[in-house]
Amino acid sequence: MAMTRVMKFGGSSVGSPEALKRAAGIVVGTEGPRAVVVSAVAGITNFLIGVLEGEFESMDLVYKKFAERHMDVARQAFGKEQLSDFMEDFGPRLEAFKALLKDEDARKDPYFVDNLMSQGERFSSLLLAHAIRAAGADAVALTSEEAGIVAHGNSQAATVDFAKTSINVNLNVKPLMADGSVPVITGFYGVGPKGQPITFGRGGSDYAATALGNALDADIVEIWTDVDGFMTSDPKVVPGAKVIDEMNYSEAAELAYFGAKVLHPRSVEPARTKHIPIYIKNSHRPEAAGTRVHNLGRPNDDLLKAVAMKVDLSIITVNSAEIACKPRMVARIIDAIAESDVCVYAISTSLSTIAFLIHNLDVKETLRNLNRVDSEIVEHINVKSNVALVCAVGDSLLASQGFSGYVFGAVKDAGANVEMISEGASDVSLNFVVPTDSVLDVVRTLHDRFITGAGK
Ligand code: ADP
Ligand code: ASP
Ligand code: MG
Repeated sequence: MAMTRVMKFGGSSVGSPEALKRAAGIVVGTEGPRAVVVSAVAGITNFLIGVLEGEFESMDLVYKKFAERHMDVARQAFGKEQLSDFMEDFGPRLEAFKALLKDEDARKDPYFVDNLMSQGERFSSLLLAHAIRAAGADAVALTSEEAGIVAHGNSQAATVDFAKTSINVNLNVKPLMADGSVPVITGFYGVGPKGQPITFGRGGSDYAATALGNALDADIVEIWTDVDGFMTSDPKVVPGAKVIDEMNYSEAAELAYFGAKVLHPRSVEPARTKHIPIYIKNSHRPEAAGTRVHNLGRPNDDLLKAVAMKVDLSIITVNSAEIACKPRMVARIIDAIAESDVCVYAISTSLSTIAFLIHNLDVKETLRNLNRVDSEIVEHINVKSNVALVCAVGDSLLASQGFSGYVFGAVKDAGANVEMISEGASDVSLNFVVPTDSVLDVVRTLHDRFITGAGK
């Protein structure tokens, strides 16, 4: 029986007429039932964030720029008749976008940010559906509302409700696929309990794709992007980065969580729980094999598989006498951090300190909550800003004796100080914190020494 697949296309894979046609060609050239998930046209989500931050003089200007960006692609990608078909879908949706821009009441909604940010996907899905039709297959653009992607959670941090989504997509999406049509679904957001769009955080279309794969019980999820696969480091940072042919779910998840932007941090789990392999492929070079992320049991010969980094972080150190022997105090401090609902990237403790690694933007709120804790518990708080986390991943990494010694030797050679270490929390990764201004040197040195072998 033909395999069921979910194919996700990122912003640069639909960001120009050529890219759009190439993406459509990939879909049409793939056999079997398939559903497509799409991100906003490259640059559009950043543009919408600019709108929220008041970067534009007027909403008329915003409307004009937004419409032009999409029309530019459509005019060059479609013939006359196809363009007129496209305009029938595009026109009314653009009117709804205009109305949203001018709706003062809508702005008061705590999920307005999500609503506005999700607009890009509502238009890229129209472009791609029409491009697929132009390339010779039947396609239907569906919003997350129409497909039934159910979510809950805070603004810009939604979680998919898999049970409800599964019921909905089996009703709304699967029959289209069975009829040979290609549903082209908006990535990036799901629909909250009040019918409001809630986004999955930046890069969230990958998560939308694996969540849909989970809900449809797909055989494969393909992430089509602008690089040849999951690489040993970000090729924009490390020019010598190489493609990794295959990796297991936990390696991919660790790297994604700690900075490898090629996958959204939460996108691995929905695939892992149903053993669905994720293929990462280059839409600009579909012939390249890409990376397969799956249940890879066999240990790899390479000690270090990849290095990722995450910048703009801060270490908050809380001092409290003999805290290590007073678990209730630790609990109070952790409670205070939890109230801020922030992401904690690492925790480390000593006899009288507990240190947390969080995003620079979360420092203010976290300090406010920590300052409310009894002064008998919290004696002193120290903040070190502008640090970066380095995440080194390899499946036999922690089992290998003395490896951390080599790593920290390389860090020293790169002229950096290690500010915090978190080894052993996961058996595939070694994470440590260095000052932001030395992180590029550290990542490149580690990559040269342990992956390319050039610096040995
Ligand atoms: P898309 O728009 O297709 O979702 P993204 O920009 O979100 O694409 O992710 C792809 C980018 O991720 C690449 O262009 C690359 O610069 C970056 N990246 C960071 N770390 C890695 C890595 N380890 N492997 C591949 N790409 C990476
Ligand atoms: N368009 C959204 C973003 O830029 C989602 C995505 O690209 O995955 O963050
Ligand atoms: Mg992305």
